[in-house]
Amino acid sequence: MKCGAELPDGGRCQKPAGWGRDTNEGKCKDHVDSKNQTVKKEFLKYLENHVTTVQSAAQHVGKHESTIWKWRQQDEEFDKKVEEAKGQQKKKRVEKVKDSLFMRIIKGDAAASETIFWLKNNAGWESQPDAQVNIAQKFDGMSIEDKEKKLEEIVES
Ligand SMILES: [Zn+2]
Repeated sequence: MKCGAELPDGGRCQKPAGWGRDTNEGKCKDHVDSKNQTVKKEFLKYLENHVTTVQSAAQHVGKHESTIWKWRQQDEEFDKKVEEAKGQQKKKRVEKVKDSLFMRIIKGDAAASETIFWLKNNAGWESQPDAQVNIAQKFDGMSIEDKEKKLEEIVES
């Protein structure tokens, strides 16, 4: 028996049935869940190209976050790609926020509460409430360059 999965070139996979899966039945390791592979690709594409979270990207492809987690445990390559895409999210968040609230913060147009909101949501920032107000208020006296530098420091830390 062969795997027999349909290949992009129209041929059939010639690997033995169950190849790479400790069995001699069914499709080979590369093709056993080809339907999931398509969803995985879609999921990764979304995660790589949007400012989003694993949870939202999972929803986008109609899966629960726990399914993504399960796939990550089963599929090392997928896991690696998810991890890479997650690493890119931080950078993307900085870029995106620069266009909106980030610009308002550095121009001094944002309220302290907005600055705190941004820090908490985009920088994983978790200080005591008093310290948050303190830092947010300090932004008011800074030059635009200093504010930009400070915010980037916080995001990257
Ligand atoms: Zn195959």
